[in-house]
Amino acid sequence: MSTHLITRDSLPDLGKAAGHKFDYGHALVLSGGPGRTGAARMAARAALRVGAGLVTLGVPPAAQMEVAAQVTAIMIKRIGDAQALGDMLQDNRLNALCAGPALGLDDRAADLVRVLLHSGRNCVLDADALTLIARDRALMQALHGGCVLTPHGGEFARLFPDIAETVQGDAPIAVKADATRKAAARSGAVVLLKGSETVVAHPGGVCTVHSATGDRAAPWLATAGAGDVLAGLITGLLARGLAPAEAAKAATWLHVSCALHFGPGLIAEDLPDCLPAVFRDLA
Ligand code: AMP
Ligand code: MG
Repeated sequence: MSTHLITRDSLPDLGKAAGHKFDYGHALVLSGGPGRTGAARMAARAALRVGAGLVTLGVPPAAQMEVAAQVTAIMIKRIGDAQALGDMLQDNRLNALCAGPALGLDDRAADLVRVLLHSGRNCVLDADALTLIARDRALMQALHGGCVLTPHGGEFARLFPDIAETVQGDAPIAVKADATRKAAARSGAVVLLKGSETVVAHPGGVCTVHSATGDRAAPWLATAGAGDVLAGLITGLLARGLAPAEAAKAATWLHVSCALHFGPGLIAEDLPDCLPAVFRDLA
């Protein structure tokens, strides 16, 4: 099966027509507890900058004040347990969910991931959510076509140890693409394998690659929190109505473009604020 490249020309139109904020969706990003809220805050900021109409951070009550001191346009909702998340998901306008960045590995985190998956809503699963899924066969079986999994190499190996055996070290991109395609087919979800070369595979077998090399080389993107921003970008594009694989591909391109725009010295929280310039260049 052929592998395609993610290029500027392959992006959907990301411009906005006149409309109401609810025309651009409502994203919910789940946060970890006190002292662990930064990753989710970066993801939420990325979701808002990429154009979601509304973004809410779901925070455990103990972290509410910490988060409130740091965000403005992003809304905050207390989500202490699975019941609170279930209540919030009664609102059908919440159309994109994100779980994982510094979420934690405790019972609250596992319960939230379970409820999120059983809601059937489009979602991004990253970081701690991937570790929880790797540990629990029932969570793995609850994955569906609206899910985007965003593992780096280590997370990929935890989720799909047998498939990962073939992608040790700096395996050629064709080998990584084949492994990612197998992981998507097995899980039934879109799988985005991160690295300097990023692979996005659809469970149906279509596979695309972005290589951050040549004039797209942005080695300074290998920095703490960059993956959390990518998860937020995908979430925001899901909120805007892109299909999961399309959101994953467009977010990958935008993420590297933001890093190229900023240049060396980048830290992850700079990335969302480069989006306006990247969008202007695309227009
Ligand atoms: P994480 O490991 O979750 O922090 O995610 C790291 C992010 O940085 C992913 O989006 C990777 O694709 C990206 N990344 C890591 N290393 C490089 C690199 N050398 N060049 C470009 N992007 C990279
Ligand atoms: Mg990460």
